Amino acid sequence: MQPTKLTFDLGMELRWQITIRGVVQGVGFRPFVHREAVAHGLTGQVVNTGQGVVIEAQGEETALARFVTALREQAPAAAVIQELTILSLPLVTESAFVIGHSVAAGPPSAGIPADLALCADCQREFFDPTDRRFRYPFINCTNCGPRYTITRAIPYDRPQTSMATFAMCDQCRAEYENPTDRRFHAQPNACPVCGPHLWLTDAQGQLLAEKEAAVVATAAQLRAGAIVALKGIGGFHLAVDATNHEAVQRLRQCKGREEKPLAIMVRDLARARQLCQLTAAEEALLDSAAAPIVLAPKQPAHDLSPAVAPGSDRLGIMLPYAPLHHLLLAEGPDVLVMTSANLSEEPICIDNSEALQRLGAIADCFLCHDRDILIRADDSVVWHLAGASRVIRRSRGYVPRPLRLAGEGAAVLGVGGELKDTVCYAKGDQAWVSQHLGDLKTLTAFSFFRETVAHLGRIYQVTPELVAHDLHPAYLTTQWAREQAGVVQLAVQHHHAHLAACLAENHYDGPAIGVILDGTGFGPDGTIWGGEVLIGDRGSFRRFAHLAPMPLPGGDAAVAAPWRTGLGYLYVAYDGVVPELPFLQGHDAGTIVAMLQRGINCPATSSCGRLFDAVAAIAGGRPTIRYEAQTAIEFMQAAGTLAGPAFPFELVAEHDTLIVEVGPLIRAVAETVRGGAILAEISQRFHRTMVELWCEVVQRAAAATGLRVVALSGGVFQNQLLFTGLMKRLQAAGFTVLAHRELPVNDGCIAFGQAMVGRAYMER
Ligand SMILES: [Zn+2]
Ligand SMILES: [Zn+2]
Ligand SMILES: [Zn+2]
Repeated sequence: MQPTKLTFDLGMELRWQITIRGVVQGVGFRPFVHREAVAHGLTGQVVNTGQGVVIEAQGEETALARFVTALREQAPAAAVIQELTILSLPLVTESAFVIGHSVAAGPPSAGIPADLALCADCQREFFDPTDRRFRYPFINCTNCGPRYTITRAIPYDRPQTSMATFAMCDQCRAEYENPTDRRFHAQPNACPVCGPHLWLTDAQGQLLAEKEAAVVATAAQLRAGAIVALKGIGGFHLAVDATNHEAVQRLRQCKGREEKPLAIMVRDLARARQLCQLTAAEEALLDSAAAPIVLAPKQPAHDLSPAVAPGSDRLGIMLPYAPLHHLLLAEGPDVLVMTSANLSEEPICIDNSEALQRLGAIADCFLCHDRDILIRADDSVVWHLAGASRVIRRSRGYVPRPLRLAGEGAAVLGVGGELKDTVCYAKGDQAWVSQHLGDLKTLTAFSFFRETVAHLGRIYQVTPELVAHDLHPAYLTTQWAREQAGVVQLAVQHHHAHLAACLAENHYDGPAIGVILDGTGFGPDGTIWGGEVLIGDRGSFRRFAHLAPMPLPGGDAAVAAPWRTGLGYLYVAYDGVVPELPFLQGHDAGTIVAMLQRGINCPATSSCGRLFDAVAAIAGGRPTIRYEAQTAIEFMQAAGTLAGPAFPFELVAEHDTLIVEVGPLIRAVAETVRGGAILAEISQRFHRTMVELWCEVVQRAAAATGLRVVALSGGVFQNQLLFTGLMKRLQAAGFTVLAHRELPVNDGCIAFGQAMVGRAYMER
């Protein structure tokens, strides 16, 4: 008898059924399982089911254990293993490991993967002159390519995608059907013979060039300073050479975007390092399969047009993710401004004729293709802050990845609020948050909301029992929710939604102390909330403390003109006798004071965002804004490093609520300005004040309740000095601090929070 045979016979042979849930379909998972099983000498099979991937593997116990470790640790980059369970089965007689046919049975929780950046293998083939896909802009495999944006319905299979109209050639089909091929069941699989192609037109839609010639012509246009509309993965971009100042300025003018920073795409990491000071964590984010825009500190000297991100100390930078981007950045300029192709606040364009119609006055030419984009998705935006990567705008590359919830619950829909809106379905122990939908103030934008509600509900087959919406009666999302028949409707207070979102994202059931520092949210008392410390959980909350309500002269007009807000706060702080301050010069202060005296159109707000605006304006910061929170952002960037003392503040108990009086703070800031202090000093001292103030309120809340867990949420926490400062301070005081990572800290988390409050409501 052969010794090897003897060893095999004596080994303990077992058969395991391994069920894996998560994002494991459409990401090259079955070929990976097949390779690992063969490498570990196992027999059995792997199949896709509605629940995920189910493996039956047979072999020696130690080999099985090593196989499971490999599944967990070496899974394809885009796979997300949420749950892995093992059951013992009786042994069977078999001689190989095979990839079985998909089983469609069972409720679909397996889902559609997010869109994936071009992988290293495809990139090699793409630039290999001997490869049949050399420079073919639609190259992909199971490890990369479009997914969510080309998929109409589940199961994720070619007939359900916009690739359905392209019949695979024999060579592509052979790859698609070969279980050991990297393109096995790669749904968008294509080649120059059978797949989509490119063409370039002028602004009138006249054809200029096709296929390879279209790429060459587009690169030449970009080098010459043209504005090009490029059809990408989740929509059209407007692209210009980022080093061409005239071109960047012309783009800003045409698009009606005056100063808000523009995102850029660079040829490779080496080029990115010339423009940004990147940490290893930021480089890993740039290079990830999601390929987001990363907000990273600018290099002090660089060759970009100063109009790319004026006044900002960070750049929004990304690497090429579609094959087409790689081509253009290799042929044309090596750094492009890449901004969503829309007029300000409208949804991104996805359709060829729609693009010509809507962008004809902006773009000089249009690089289009015939692989339809079915779902709009903007580029995602992330940064690395306080030891973790944190998403600011969650879209392409992340959506529709589910969020795993701590427990089971009812099927619900959260429709969000008005700004930076998303929608969220939850069912069982999962939640799906939609891509960023933007500001839903116009009917065009609102049609994107309707589209997404229908699409997400269809692909995950969720029939909600409850629809949760904002308290604000005038929001389009509130009105839509109230029109839905046959479901429970629940109004959720905006900041309670922030708290619930932060708790649920961290799998913490509460209760906790929620520090919610925000711009605007409708309170149950009819005033605008936004500087809140809440005590609560998913089910309920009470307002433990808040900033004292202050007047906003002109309402939204004050949000756009922080000098008005500053004047309003001074008016209250000085009992109606406003002192002379440099920031009021050149403004019609008299009219605003008259409004304040008569209380005309001066809604009261406890918003923390407005407190930042007011202090920044009084200190001499930007009086009016060109994009959201511009004054506060620049004020934060101005903060000096000298450690001056905090400004005074006052906490006043009123019934069972703690009021943070800001009068002493405003007066101290005004006196310091009159004493000749510069912006850097006031900014540094104000940020320090904010950290001390909110820490003190949390200490009071902890003393009153015994709670030691603090949740941070709200758009003001995008201020990194405040976020990291308060987090450190609270941790040093022994608190457990919960913060967002996967979901935005801004209103992008509201729909998820509403859904979580809705589920708690259904539990009662
Ligand atoms: Zn690939
Ligand atoms: Zn082909
Ligand atoms: Zn908010």
